[in-house]
Amino acid sequence: MSLLAGKVALITGGSRGIGEAIVLKYAEEGADIAFTYVSSTDKANALVEEVRKKGVKVIAFKSDASDYNQAENLINDVISAFGKIDILINNAGITKDTLMLRMSEEQWDQVMEVNLKSVFNLTKHVLKPMMKQRAGSIINMSSVVGVFGNAGQANYAASKAGIIGFSKSIAKEVGSRNIRCNAVAPGFIETDMTHILTDEQKKSYVDSIPLRRLGAGEDVANACVYLGSDMSTYVSGQVLSVCGGLNT
Ligand code: NAP
Repeated sequence: MSLLAGKVALITGGSRGIGEAIVLKYAEEGADIAFTYVSSTDKANALVEEVRKKGVKVIAFKSDASDYNQAENLINDVISAFGKIDILINNAGITKDTLMLRMSEEQWDQVMEVNLKSVFNLTKHVLKPMMKQRAGSIINMSSVVGVFGNAGQANYAASKAGIIGFSKSIAKEVGSRNIRCNAVAPGFIETDMTHILTDEQKKSYVDSIPLRRLGAGEDVANACVYLGSDMSTYVSGQVLSVCGGLNT
């Protein structure tokens, strides 16, 4: 099966975790891939080598998604290298968890800039080329925490809830140009981001998940294949939870 053959995808934060799983799955489905990272240069280079073996074109760009000018340059560079962008996946994200009484202005600002402003930055600059080609799929990585909140994550939950409102608004603004915009809301996925949880915390989360397991990056990547492919050409403005039934 090659659900993404002929398509060009740009994935932010592709060097590790969910982003890396999306890069690999997209390559298996035949997409040409540009992905970004900020600090994991060795991991990014190793991933490029691995993806190249799958027979698709791939380039890793060091680019901070929270920086407006870098985002503009990135879109221009990807268009120069690949000729077009069919799918944008705004996946880059960070956490700075702490209770509200202890949260600093810096912890608030950093999370909003990397998680939410980045989505504005990349979407802003990809829309013109997508409008010209009268097609495109934008996939924004939210979280179940953006839907129902989480103590100790007010900054993160606010950024992820903001992504949902943003995605629905963009779907309404550019749907007439055949550009779709959806959000994915993962539950607890095993990556560096969740490795800080203790075994006890993980067990208590697992007990509350109807499918009784934490998710894998591949679970989220499969949902992104669906939303990026022509299997979902009538799906826009939606939030697809990938959470083992947690958000039920
Ligand atoms: P992760 O393992 O910590 O990986 C984060 C990725 O984002 C890395 O590739 C990192 O690049 C990149 N990144 C960080 N800041 C960036 C920036 N300013 N510009 C560009 N790239 C940047 O995280 P993850 O668990 O895979 O999470 C991926 C996305 O899914 C995030 O948006 C996260 O909020 C969301 N999510 C995760 C879970 C979960 O349970 N894991 C649940 C719900 C939602 P470097 O490698 O260079 O640092």
